[in-house]
Amino acid sequence: MFKKLLIANRGEITCRVIHSARKLGVKTVAIYSDADANALHVNMADEAVHVGPSPSRESYLQAKKIIDIAVATGADAIHPGYGFLSENADFARMCEDNDIEFVGPPASAIEAMGSKSAAKQIMEEAGVPLVPGYHGDDQAPDILKKHADDMGYPVLLKAAAGGGGKGMRQVWSESEFTSALNAAKREAMSSFGDDIMLVEKYLTQPRHVEIQVFCDKYGKGVYLFERDCSVQRRHQKVIEEAPAPGMSDDLRAQMGEAALKAANAIDYVGAGTVEFLLDSDGRFYFMEMNTRLQVEHPVTEMITGEDLVEWQLRVASGEPLPKRQEQLTLKGHAFEARVYAEDPNNDFLPATGTLHLLRPPVESDFVRVDTGVNQGDDVSVFYDPMIAKLIVWDENREKALARLSTALSEYHIEGVTTNIDFLYNLSTHASFKHAELTTNFIEKHEESLF
Ligand code: ADP
Repeated sequence: MFKKLLIANRGEITCRVIHSARKLGVKTVAIYSDADANALHVNMADEAVHVGPSPSRESYLQAKKIIDIAVATGADAIHPGYGFLSENADFARMCEDNDIEFVGPPASAIEAMGSKSAAKQIMEEAGVPLVPGYHGDDQAPDILKKHADDMGYPVLLKAAAGGGGKGMRQVWSESEFTSALNAAKREAMSSFGDDIMLVEKYLTQPRHVEIQVFCDKYGKGVYLFERDCSVQRRHQKVIEEAPAPGMSDDLRAQMGEAALKAANAIDYVGAGTVEFLLDSDGRFYFMEMNTRLQVEHPVTEMITGEDLVEWQLRVASGEPLPKRQEQLTLKGHAFEARVYAEDPNNDFLPATGTLHLLRPPVESDFVRVDTGVNQGDDVSVFYDPMIAKLIVWDENREKALARLSTALSEYHIEGVTTNIDFLYNLSTHASFKHAELTTNFIEKHEESLF
């Protein structure tokens, strides 16, 4: 096992990683920007080193500086968390070059999945079912349009370099195609510096179901079942759950095997997530693979009883997978709600301010709160405004959902506008209770949710 782990991140995920590192007897090094000098993650770590000014570009994205801090503090591994440098192949390579273990897949696997079009090509060859569409190199607008026309509308334009729902446009008819393409390309260029586009058949009422996979350095892989992340706003997840309601054992095994095929195709190591769209006929299609720990990993931990960060550290340090597929079992049901500083009544505009009162629900075997803030902290403009992840578990979906709404009603925050009431409305919505889940759930029920 490692002696000292640097966590190249901030907030709740850094606190989460420290927790598991401590359990394994690994010392931790935190980094912090100006705005985070007194942050919870800094206080929790054994050591903390200033990395730069508040903007991420000058601090948490400073790959070279972070490597220098790891070397100076004698860290033998770096955990990148999610976001920031977690899917940056150059950063993974810099770790390798400095004899520091990157807690994640090899740089080559990150690269392979870094472009949605290249990823689809690899998956096609590996025999993983894909969302029908065009992911070729010829980017001439009339070629893209011809593929859309042939496929039939609606289609979805997607930036190959995309993430976080950016650079995507639905196109409902031929006449809208050109203006949608231009808009998507502009957004992709300004967000990712790359405007290569994919054209996909737009599935109108799918579910987003993703498989958690884990691979060790010896070519062995397992899947830790699925998460349903259909409840989204602007293609961003709002509430996630595991297992996916109505999933048969047969479909679970099929999707799990397909996800492992995807991971094997790129010689994957560590925690990864293969995202699929699932249609109402039980057909599933590969969308993309995220080569890191996901925000929503706790719901998987709750139903499997496994600590995924512990798994990551064990596998990165060269241990074989802690369990074989047949030793993994699924128990009960879990939800995660993302508590954000944002205003649902004002187009979900991020909110800033001081958390004058921060009173989360009491934690227990049924309720878990993953957070990176204390009462009195500021929610600043510099970073993602997530305040906490509220995770609940119980023996079945109905009971777990009741836990979720109760916990939300017990969550009190003053000083910053939050989405807690909106999450409560979601968790008590009749259609949500009946698990009528599709990716347009929020749009469809807009009137009864606000
Ligand atoms: P990003 O990397 O930006 O998050 P994804 O490819 O993961 O983009 O897609 C995000 C979400 O967009 C999905 O969860 C799903 O709700 C929706 N989506 C993506 N592709 C399609 C498609 N072909 N048809 C319908 N919805 C889609």
